[in-house]
Amino acid sequence: GLPSAKDEIMTIFESILAGKIPAKKVWENEYVLAFEDIHPQASIHILFIPKTKTENLHELASSSNQDQQLVHLFRAIADYAQAQGLDKKGYRIVSNIGAQAGQSVFYTHIHLLAGEVLGAFGRARS
Ligand code: AMP
Repeated sequence: GLPSAKDEIMTIFESILAGKIPAKKVWENEYVLAFEDIHPQASIHILFIPKTKTENLHELASSSNQDQQLVHLFRAIADYAQAQGLDKKGYRIVSNIGAQAGQSVFYTHIHLLAGEVLGAFGRARS
């Protein structure tokens, strides 16, 4: 079918990967980049992205050649969290997928929140 706007427009995270806009990188290897969220929701708020483009977990999980990307993404989070001592203190990982979750960047990413006692999450407050 026709390409959608989401396909045509480079996402902000592709621009970061391409070095076209700056980011505060905190961790990187061949497969994964981690950088600080520009609007932090906790004193530590990091975004982990695979270096190959997919829109969300479902596109990532459904392409058979992406299995290693899934492994690398979660291993990166575990390695970073352990290196920072967050496995001991506690932290949260979240991925917003689609409309009801309020996904705003259509490039697969996992949020890591830490550094303080975290609030509840889930249903929108009225
Ligand atoms: P989501 O709403 O779950 O799709 O998450 C997108 C996240 O990207 C939000 O938490 C934004 O604050 C963050 N974000 C948007 N633009 C940038 C940027 N240029 N650098 C770092 N984080 C960004």
